[in-house]
Amino acid sequence: MEIYTGQIASKGVAIGKIVYCYEEETKPYQKDMPQVELKKFQEAKRVASLQIADLEEKAREEIGEEEALIFQTHQMMLEDLDYLEMIEEGIASDKGAVCAVLEAREYFSSIFSQMEDSYMQARSADILDISNRLIKVLNKEEEQKIDMPSIVVAYDLTPSQTLQMERKNLLAFVTQEGSSSSHTAILAKTMGIPALVQVEINPLMDQKLAIVDGNEGKIILSPSQEVLAEYEEILLKQTEQERRWREFRGKDTVSKTGKKVMLYANAGNLEDIQLALENDAEGIGLLRSEFLYLQKKTYPTEEEQFLFYKQALELMQGKRVIVRTLDIGADKKIDYFNLEKEENPALGYRGIRICLDRIEIFKTQLKALLRASVYGRLAIMFPMIVALWEVQEIKRILEEVKGELREEGQSFDERVEIGIMIETPAAALIAEDLAKEVDFFSIGTNDLTQYTLALDRQNQKLHRFSNAYHSSIFRLIALSVEAGHKHHCWVGVCGEIAQEEEALKRLLAIGIDEISISPKLILSTRGKIFQI
Ligand code: PEP
Ligand code: MG
Repeated sequence: MEIYTGQIASKGVAIGKIVYCYEEETKPYQKDMPQVELKKFQEAKRVASLQIADLEEKAREEIGEEEALIFQTHQMMLEDLDYLEMIEEGIASDKGAVCAVLEAREYFSSIFSQMEDSYMQARSADILDISNRLIKVLNKEEEQKIDMPSIVVAYDLTPSQTLQMERKNLLAFVTQEGSSSSHTAILAKTMGIPALVQVEINPLMDQKLAIVDGNEGKIILSPSQEVLAEYEEILLKQTEQERRWREFRGKDTVSKTGKKVMLYANAGNLEDIQLALENDAEGIGLLRSEFLYLQKKTYPTEEEQFLFYKQALELMQGKRVIVRTLDIGADKKIDYFNLEKEENPALGYRGIRICLDRIEIFKTQLKALLRASVYGRLAIMFPMIVALWEVQEIKRILEEVKGELREEGQSFDERVEIGIMIETPAAALIAEDLAKEVDFFSIGTNDLTQYTLALDRQNQKLHRFSNAYHSSIFRLIALSVEAGHKHHCWVGVCGEIAQEEEALKRLLAIGIDEISISPKLILSTRGKIFQI
């Protein structure tokens, strides 16, 4: 029995077999003589080409011609003479095939990303994709498939990697890197599975039976019969507790002192919305629309987005669904956006800043949202606001899109509410001005903590300095609530802090109108609010 400890990113207990995910570049690679390496590369290229042809066919059958075209481009790039020449030269000078592909990947992806033309810029992501595929084949690495319920152990996991995995088979995440407020941690909370970060991992963990204890922050490998029995008992109690919480279904969320709150759920996709419904959420308080973009290899079309939002609204059957517009950047990176590498990504090009620069992407999303609005009760929310002019410009663009829809004869709900996230101290401090422009505020305490305390939420070294209960944060929340109420603007909280009992007490005392939390926590939170 071996025990490793780490930081808790999501609570709960899971028992299962480990699947260890290798990183392409850290996997040991045995380099041979240049002639042998060249042969290995040629074979890898043949296999990669077959894989791409397979994906192209699958995409055509399952998604459509447009997705299939991406793979045609990948085939063409795999035959690009300059790209091949650089790899072959690298191999000839004894760098080994993997290293030669890595060098060509860096060189060509940076050339493409610096080009003026947006089509050529997008090719940078294709170079990354085909190069990574070649490296995987050279490393004889299978596409990572989680095809049975497993505990996923990895050096690090990006939100897009996590999203590619089959959800129903994910029992827990354990990573060496990452922080407890990263988006991968948030995903684990949304799914209601335990997650640990900062655990010393090693490949020998692969396939071992393990217990992830997300309450105590440890993973136990090859547990003894006694320990296993102890945790099976804990799991049973957990299930029993969940059954008791079911008593709170169908009830209004009202505190002991008579304060009614709207109890909403955070979601990233339709599965989360389904989970929210099963747990009796009164609405969706934050639909992170960027997850739709993260799951794709290129920009989702207006039609694809329209269908997604329509399904989300239909599922919620008239309950409010707050969709947050695209909030990428920082830890949510998407290759096909070709965003430049930044020194300080959290303080950089993210959220609404990208949308206000790349208006076509923004307008496509707004159009899809408005068209979907006739299928339910939609509210649109904008992230990362720091200034009044941003909100005014957003409203101008929204009006422009409405005008275009009217001209095209397309219907939409004229009463769609709009709101903003309060997740920067700047927004909280000018909340009076902002409240006059919108219908609601939703306070994102994850980023509000990061920006108020000057603590990168991704940096695990700062864990002990981070404190979402810092009085500065609650003062900013109180300011926002007061300003909102003065101007008929309701105020909610969708940051992770709203799941904690202590925070709930304080938020209710401040006069919060709505809280939005992980779907799985809805019923237990309703129970807690009854006691406040
Ligand atoms: C927040 O910042 O609190 C928030 C809810 O948004 P995200 O975690 O997606 O940045
Ligand atoms: Mg945020």
